[in-house]
Amino acid sequence: MNDDKKPLILIADDNSLNLKILENMLKRKGYQTVLAENGYQALELLQNQQPDIILLDIMMPGVNGIKVCQSLKEKESTKNIPVLFITALSDTKDKLKAFKAGGIDYITKPFIQEEVLARINVHIELKKAMERLKALSVTDEMTGVFNRRWAYEILAKQIEITNRENSSLVICYIDIDHLKIINDNYGHAEGDKLINTVVNALNSVIRASDYIFRMGGDEFLLIFPKAKLTDSDNMIKRIRESLRDKKMKGIPIDFSFGFSEFQAKDNLLPDELIKIADSNMYQQKTEKKRDVVIES
Ligand code: GH3
Ligand code: MG
Repeated sequence: MNDDKKPLILIADDNSLNLKILENMLKRKGYQTVLAENGYQALELLQNQQPDIILLDIMMPGVNGIKVCQSLKEKESTKNIPVLFITALSDTKDKLKAFKAGGIDYITKPFIQEEVLARINVHIELKKAMERLKALSVTDEMTGVFNRRWAYEILAKQIEITNRENSSLVICYIDIDHLKIINDNYGHAEGDKLINTVVNALNSVIRASDYIFRMGGDEFLLIFPKAKLTDSDNMIKRIRESLRDKKMKGIPIDFSFGFSEFQAKDNLLPDELIKIADSNMYQQKTEKKRDVVIES
């Protein structure tokens, strides 16, 4: 949830007066709203909308609120949206059923507007905090790109998508050259600058749908979903050329890289795919070092 954006709240209630009252109340407080008059409509809206919170009535014709909640908790794209039930049912057994279905809070009708607003506010703040924690847990602090742990999760997901769509994906393993020389001669802070310069160069060319991860030290992994090896190869070579001209303390900036490609139905695990790219990278690195020895 973006801190600057007005949170979006989906209200589902078959009572149009309730809908109107809740809508007016939320709009006055600066929230955006989207309205559903029954369970079906709520589920349909959730196919294209990502509300920050759902206010859900239970007794509605067709699909009731409990079923709506259960069904969105089963779906990856909607399972993290907090659901606040708002209902005339006040029995403990109904409340327990609602929490079991995945609800995060329960408000009984007739409701008190201030209380509804206060509860919504708490859940919006909690959701923001969860999102911040999630972002921290998948981000490398120094460079701001994703970290190693997240690389394995995303690659596993992308392999699944590639199989489902019968397409292909490419990954690229990168290791910066001569970082130790910069560290040893100019200090760790200059070494950090070198790492960030390479990250900026990579970030400036990859597509919005591509991923970059810091695997540790000066090693990075790129994932190019739905990509072909030839396009990716050209792109990485272009970045490498442009960086080499930049230089760091007079030393050309360069990195070594290796690819591996996954075709739908290939029997490869994320770890195996990464190992192939890493070993191709290592081969390039070794060849470069051999060339330097031969030249000198
Ligand atoms: P090569 O050309 O063979 O890749 O050698 P290299 O000097 O780049 O060293 P190598 O890739 O074998 O190891 C990476 C080095 O980067 C080891 C470590 O001292 C240093 N390093 C790891 N993390 C950081 C970091 O966050 N900042 C800085 N400045 N240096 C780091
Ligand atoms: Mg290196």
